[in-house]
Amino acid sequence: MSDIIKLNHVRKEYDDGFVALKDINLTIESGKFYSLLGPSGSGKTTILRIIAGFSEPTSGKVFFDGDDITNLDSSKRKINTVFQNYALFPHMNVFENVAFGLQIKKKDKQEIKMAVKEALHMVQLDGFANREISELSGGQQQRVAIARAIVNQPKVLLLDESLSALDKRLRKDMQFELREIQKKLGITFIFVTHDQEEALAMSDEIFVLNEGKIQQSGSPVDIYDEPVNDFVARFIGDSNILSGRMIKDYEVEFGNHRFECADAGIKPGEKVEVVLRPEDLDITDIEHGKLRVMVESQLFLGDHFEIKAIDSDENEWLIHSTNPTKIGKEVGVYFDPEDIHVMRFGESEAEF
Ligand code: ATP
Repeated sequence: MSDIIKLNHVRKEYDDGFVALKDINLTIESGKFYSLLGPSGSGKTTILRIIAGFSEPTSGKVFFDGDDITNLDSSKRKINTVFQNYALFPHMNVFENVAFGLQIKKKDKQEIKMAVKEALHMVQLDGFANREISELSGGQQQRVAIARAIVNQPKVLLLDESLSALDKRLRKDMQFELREIQKKLGITFIFVTHDQEEALAMSDEIFVLNEGKIQQSGSPVDIYDEPVNDFVARFIGDSNILSGRMIKDYEVEFGNHRFECADAGIKPGEKVEVVLRPEDLDITDIEHGKLRVMVESQLFLGDHFEIKAIDSDENEWLIHSTNPTKIGKEVGVYFDPEDIHVMRFGESEAEF
């Protein structure tokens, strides 16, 4: 796969002096589904606007197919955007909305008709051409917005929180559909979201952002299983995070206990943070557990129980268990050495 977009040392300082992006370096390959994931204010939309050409970086460069497009007008980029509110024209019907960009470019009438038909087919809206926008559901409006954005065959599609207006059920359906559309079209999608589950479910690759910096990039599995710092571990999924110290290559100490762990490449003696995912912990009897805890609360969440427990050092543990236990009971907690993820202490402060 070839690289299609590159951001090199992109910094964005707004007029009021606020630095929204610090030093963004990223490479986007063609034909893949990417997510920019981060909390509100982390800089996701700013990156998207710089890629689209709606905003210029204060310094740094943007490349498209190897060409420097940092100062290229947005209309000349082979990149389209689907906005959060879809920005559809309410007084035009579906056909007119999708055809609009091509009509502005004075394309041949027959050609426009064919292109709109094809785009509506792609998003499963065959037969909807004459519908008014007000007669469509939220999910259908979302699809019209996508059809409008793909009708002139861009190489890259940017989607800014475009599922956030939909209810939960529809959102799940659209996640699946968007992924299918992306695969069918074979173009690059860059999707902005603050919803970690959504990013994990949809993406080939995720860039996790916080405070204007990329904290980690990688496949959903990499990011979930091997968070590089405290921020990523807390932001993606639930975690138990404890302070500790490396004892030797395969041994870590935390909560006054020593545990065998996978090799973390961290020197013995160094302070570390240890991440254990709640679903990697099993409740067992005290003899078979590696830790002894007392159950404080238990919630049934449909497919598992969420259990909060406390150990003798007053550390609170979050455990996902398929079986219920009893509040107030002392139980053992078991985990495998490879489920202990060890990070250098204070890694979240590191420069990226
Ligand atoms: P959200 O999920 O809330 O949309 P985001 O991650 O997309 O957030 P951005 O919209 O990129 O975040 O904003 C990043 C930071 O830059 C925010 O703190 C925001 O207040 C600030 N910002 C955005 N636009 C401007 C502007 N024109 N002038 C000053 N600061 C701005």
